[in-house]
Amino acid sequence: MSVAASDAVRPPIAAAGNAGSGTFAYCSQQYRVVFGAGTSARLGEEAERLGIKRALVLTTPEQQDLGRQLGAGLGDRLAALFAGARMHTPVEVTNEALRIVESRDIDGLIAIGGGSTVGLGKALSLRTGLPHLAVPTTYAGSEMTPILGETTNGIKTTQHSQDLVPDAVIYDVDLTVSLPPQVSAASGLNAIAHAVEALYAPDANPLTSLMAEDGIAALARALPRIMTGPADAGARRNALYGAWLCGVCLGAVGMSLHHKLCHVLGGMFNLPHAETHAIVLPHAAAYNAAAASEAMTRIARALRTDDAPQGLFDLAQRLALPRRLADIGMPEDGIARAAEMAVRSPYANPRPVERVAIQDLIAAAWRGDAPARH
Ligand code: NAD
Repeated sequence: MSVAASDAVRPPIAAAGNAGSGTFAYCSQQYRVVFGAGTSARLGEEAERLGIKRALVLTTPEQQDLGRQLGAGLGDRLAALFAGARMHTPVEVTNEALRIVESRDIDGLIAIGGGSTVGLGKALSLRTGLPHLAVPTTYAGSEMTPILGETTNGIKTTQHSQDLVPDAVIYDVDLTVSLPPQVSAASGLNAIAHAVEALYAPDANPLTSLMAEDGIAALARALPRIMTGPADAGARRNALYGAWLCGVCLGAVGMSLHHKLCHVLGGMFNLPHAETHAIVLPHAAAYNAAAASEAMTRIARALRTDDAPQGLFDLAQRLALPRRLADIGMPEDGIARAAEMAVRSPYANPRPVERVAIQDLIAAAWRGDAPARH
């Protein structure tokens, strides 16, 4: 196995996207990022920059103490705390928070937490037009995307709008230290999945490819260290930096087979989101390997290996993540049904999405095989 991959020369610009011609479009988003350890101490300053005088702080019930603690730093600018954020942004929760926005004369939103809390901030800013300051505490990356998934009566719908991207983001490395190692590992692998697919996206471009490769490298180095030392400041810093870059990738270019499969499997069998990503990713990469060789070179280089799918598989094993869909609740008789669903209206993908090969892929992930070219 070669280990000098990180020293290799980057591929030429012409090979960075899928087009191969060197022609691409790149759209940057309007947001401000403050990154570092202890940066949440600047919450008041950043709120002032956005003109927020009466802030509504948003958290999950589990993180309300953190909300109170950081909210205190806002002084007179703190108008209220709503600690009701929940997974998948249920509209009834959004409506409850909206009533507080209206009754307390709120003029700005501050989401402190993971993807669930940032999702609530997005849902509220979309409805009210209020400025949104996000303080992420996981590696989900929602704060960097123009995407909102909301749930109404258990049915999830997704919308895209540039207005959904928070106006400013404070990444405070110190706030991620409490994220349990196993949750960090799954969340980090989920972030890596965004970058892997960004490298072979139909609208890939040299800038997102740079971020994707660096994001994978930063997370792949940091996550094993977090497993043995959850308070390792350097590792936490690299992981959050990598998660930021991977979040940008998710927001900037289209996702392919891997995300479609995880969406189908998660929806059909109610599987845990991040673990499903960790199991499926090496197999999806193997499926696309021959059709996306430049992307594989970059992923392998980021992982310091010579085989991208196997490198992703080995990383997940090193992080003690589950390796079999069977172990996280998928029934064996679901394999064929999932394959059928996955080939219906597939996302754009480097290799055509074929029914039999997809069923083989899902079966391999169900059994926990090492990734093989299907
Ligand atoms: P989460 O926000 O649901 O958080 C999970 C739990 O961990 C919560 O109880 C939370 O309070 C707790 N937690 C968060 N940070 C912590 C910390 N530092 N220490 C201790 N506990 C902490 O989980 P998530 O994975 O960040 O987000 C998942 C949600 O985000 C899903 O609904 C997903 O669909 C959405 N998401 C959306 C996008 C997008 O672009 N729209 C991107 C990624 C994820």
